[in-house]
Amino acid sequence: MSAELESLYRELILDHSRNPVGKGDPSTTAHTHHELNPSCGDEITMGVTLDADGRISELVWEGQGCSISMASASVMADMLAGAPKADALERIEEFRTMLRSRGAGEPPESLEDAAAFQGVAKYVMRIKCAMLGWVALEACLNQA
Ligand code: ZN
Repeated sequence: MSAELESLYRELILDHSRNPVGKGDPSTTAHTHHELNPSCGDEITMGVTLDADGRISELVWEGQGCSISMASASVMADMLAGAPKADALERIEEFRTMLRSRGAGEPPESLEDAAAFQGVAKYVMRIKCAMLGWVALEACLNQA
């Protein structure tokens, strides 16, 4: 990853941690899931509602934790609100594969801004932080 791209990504993560997308009260959504990352102290409650066509019509979360966990949930909400369930599950799997690859290879273009978290894969302790919101969304979608 070039130094330029790395600083662009750092800025994107900072932006999302300052102005999180999708943050709100998930209690009114159809499916909610609470996920904890004890190693860092991050927690999140994800809420999702699907419309009749199986699209994510509502994606709301609340949580607290490190900037990586909060920014990652925000980028995910920005990207996957409105997406069909099957597509969202695919993106979650791609995101997981990217983080498990320990920073090797190019992330798929379909991951858009979420590619910014590839650098996180170098730090094993932070992978769970970056995955937190995505795991919670996956659990919500599997309930639906
Ligand atoms: Zn964390």
